[in-house]
Amino acid sequence: MSCLKRETALPSRSGPNGLDFNPVDVMQPRAPGVTPKDAKNGARVKHANVPPEGVYLPNNNRLTPHMRSPEYVQMSTAAAITLGLMPGKMHGCGCTRCLNLLLTYPEGCRANCAYCGLARHREAERDYADRNFIRVDWPAVPMAQIVEKVATDGDKTPFHRMCISMITHPNSDADTVTVLKQWTSRIDPSAVPVSILSNPTTMSRADVKQLHGLGADIFTVALDAATPDIFDRTRGKGVQSPHSWQKYWEILEDARDIFGKEKFGAHIIVGMGETEHDVLHLIQRLVDMGGHSHMFCFFPEKGSLMDHLPATPRDQWRRVQLARYLIDYQGVRVDQMRFDDQGRVSDFGIPASERETIIDKGLAFRTSGCPGKIQTDISACDRPYGDSPASNIASYPFQPGPADMRKIRHQLGMEKPGETYVEGEEYEEVQS
Ligand code: SF4
Repeated sequence: MSCLKRETALPSRSGPNGLDFNPVDVMQPRAPGVTPKDAKNGARVKHANVPPEGVYLPNNNRLTPHMRSPEYVQMSTAAAITLGLMPGKMHGCGCTRCLNLLLTYPEGCRANCAYCGLARHREAERDYADRNFIRVDWPAVPMAQIVEKVATDGDKTPFHRMCISMITHPNSDADTVTVLKQWTSRIDPSAVPVSILSNPTTMSRADVKQLHGLGADIFTVALDAATPDIFDRTRGKGVQSPHSWQKYWEILEDARDIFGKEKFGAHIIVGMGETEHDVLHLIQRLVDMGGHSHMFCFFPEKGSLMDHLPATPRDQWRRVQLARYLIDYQGVRVDQMRFDDQGRVSDFGIPASERETIIDKGLAFRTSGCPGKIQTDISACDRPYGDSPASNIASYPFQPGPADMRKIRHQLGMEKPGETYVEGEEYEEVQS
């Protein structure tokens, strides 16, 4: 890293201890507690054995039914609103373009990732189907009902993509295959392509091949952590969780070989203690392999082992968003960029006029993920408010308007002369 004069003034420091980034010593998860025997492995739900009756809305003041994939899956609140299964409105967007499905079992995910609301340590406190994940509830719905609805809607479906999120469970590999087959038996995967958010810990190269052969379009690996140390601390031995960095990379390389260029990617959470230099080198590595990065801004998920920690300061997040967009979609290389002595981006490696044009387009600040039907750098998977509240948006699930752009520029420390952001003005813009 070379310490150079900054391209722009540093913006207001919005992070811990007056910093504008989350430092590694602050981002330490709590240790998981001990789960009582009568709460382990979904015992409460299996003991009560309440039969499910159609759609189950989480935390609805009734006993959680005994629901299992592949008959049942959970879906994001945004997908449930879009399908009309739940009432609700989402700030700035009428619907989501991605039908995010999540495998479900009373035993839940057997991993214990420190930032995740689905983690195993929560079994003492909340049944799996009632746990929050990326800030929202996930209603459980019979898979047959979902397929019937999307197949009947035909070309009128709002969805540009469907995604099956696997979890760490002994049945997860086989049930992903069943769910995928059920989907493709009624819905043409070229009309609504399917992504797999994989669970490498339980998978082999043959599993990756099988999913590709069955018509899956994109395969992603949730590395989540940007470095091996952070991986181990947040989702490996540090929290009694089974994942390993090496196994995740093995499956990622299998995905590159089998799914091919532009058809694989990795999820990365920004702000868990890595430097901007670390995360942008990882992003470059993925691009050099032929894949993409899908980024999440760290948010202290309620009930997780990191819920006491600060969300990623917007200063750090915006710099990484902009630099990642340049690497992923504009052919800029990380070695053209410059970093300061704390690993922060100090120069984006392109002339200021080009950088300004790219910022003004706003695409760098939208949610990143698998593409839909609009253009390759607009994600179908818009995950409304999955990594921030609407009051302080991290990933924009919609095209940022003029007031949003003034806010983004303020956070980047790159306000245009005469265009000062006024706190809260973006709400008035959405409402007008
Ligand atoms: S494997 Fe995935 S779902 Fe399970 S705890 Fe880790 S992040 Fe959450």
